[in-house]
Amino acid sequence: MIRNRSIKFKITMWFTLGVTIILSLAILVAIMASRSVLRTTIRNYLISTVDNNYDMIEYIPANDGSLTDQEKIDKRTENHEILIDYSGGYLLIDEDFMNIVNDVNTALYTADGTMLYGENPLARRTENIPFTESHIWNMAANNVNYVLYDRKLNLDLPDDETLWMRGIVPETESEKQLRDISGLVILIVPVIAVLSIMLGYFLSRRMLAPISDMEKTASSISQGDDLSRRIDIGNGNDELHKLADDFNMMFERLEESFGRERQFTSDASHELRTPMSVIMAQCEYTLESGGDISDYIESLETIHRQSLRMNGLINDMLDYTRMDQGAEEKYPKYDFDLSVLTERISDSMAMLRTNDITLTSDIEPGLHINGNERLVDRLISNLISNAYRYGKEGGTIKVKLSSCDADDTGRPHVRLDVIDDGIGIDEGDLEKIFDRFYRKDSARTEQGTGLGLAMVKKIAEIHEAEIFVDSAPGKGSTFTVIFERM
Ligand code: ADP
Repeated sequence: MIRNRSIKFKITMWFTLGVTIILSLAILVAIMASRSVLRTTIRNYLISTVDNNYDMIEYIPANDGSLTDQEKIDKRTENHEILIDYSGGYLLIDEDFMNIVNDVNTALYTADGTMLYGENPLARRTENIPFTESHIWNMAANNVNYVLYDRKLNLDLPDDETLWMRGIVPETESEKQLRDISGLVILIVPVIAVLSIMLGYFLSRRMLAPISDMEKTASSISQGDDLSRRIDIGNGNDELHKLADDFNMMFERLEESFGRERQFTSDASHELRTPMSVIMAQCEYTLESGGDISDYIESLETIHRQSLRMNGLINDMLDYTRMDQGAEEKYPKYDFDLSVLTERISDSMAMLRTNDITLTSDIEPGLHINGNERLVDRLISNLISNAYRYGKEGGTIKVKLSSCDADDTGRPHVRLDVIDDGIGIDEGDLEKIFDRFYRKDSARTEQGTGLGLAMVKKIAEIHEAEIFVDSAPGKGSTFTVIFERM
């Protein structure tokens, strides 16, 4: 059940439970400790009061000369003492003996348990309990626990008689205090629990606020289509801020990627619309104006040309998309001889001789790379096609393959150059020519789809190869691809 609750609820609950348990344990330990301290204190009071009273009793033997009644009274008032006739002499007791200090009562007994003087809340009950020297013991009566302490008096009494002093203290006071504390605890624990619920809720709300923001932004993105929204949880460097940054980076990439897709679709439709319009216009014109068979043949030729163009465009688009999505599985890589492949493509394309252009090759044998032969074939063919397409009448194309020095990583590389002496590319266009559907206006009349170099770039990326172009308008262009060598 709790699993379905919000994190805020769970944190608050665990926090409250933890605080309450820790607090209750702490209070329990404190009560136990104070109980033991109180007991020790009571015992100490008892012992010290009895020991104090010990010195307050003196025995005056009879042969010291008997006192007259008046003398006795005088003595009592003079010294604040009490005189008790005992065994032919007198027991002289300080009046302070009767003071009840810290709830402790003290009383004087004969050895057989008869109380001579003093106060004892349990006098009768304790009378017959034998005395043991310096002994502390407990006794319960009327639901009260009493602590008792006996001491034997050394008073040089005649006939070796002994007298005993017994101190007694009820534990009521300490019990009462503990009861008060316990009552307080019973009151405090729920208050603390409520406070910790409030604190836990406040803390979890505060700490989880960024998550809540993230959740809101993410769900508004997933429900609507506003990919430009970003999570803003202010400045900070904790885990949540890092998570928010990661999310924002992800949204950025998604936005870019969706943007690219949208652009691709719109560019593709745009590119397809031109041949399609030509075909439609041609059909309408021919159907309306009629004419002889040669007009029909001319129309069909136009339609055929445009259909071929559309077909090429559609094929290129499909190939490009296929490469864009999951190239790893669709185009597995393996070791193959790039020299042999380049040689074969150069030889077959040299036969084209479009615009009277001559293609020569300079290929270092035995250069292997790890890649997909079909894709690399496409890359080389596209570069050579472009060299023909944008070459000058009677010009030259040179295809060069050579090994090149190891880079910082220490791995050897293979360099492919396709060099032409054609129209060249303006500096401002150099960056754009690898974009999808980018075609310079002057190239619009030429055959081509604007996807050739985009595909070349993609294939280079799949092979982790570097690609660059060096070109000057009117002088020609050199396209270079550097592969890692096996
Ligand atoms: P296209 O189908 O138009 O050839 P590409 O992607 O292959 O599309 O090339 C994009 C643009 O780059 C071309 O329209 C052209 O303007 C320019 N370009 C490509 N190769 C060359 C080259 N060898 N010489 C001059 N310009 C070139």
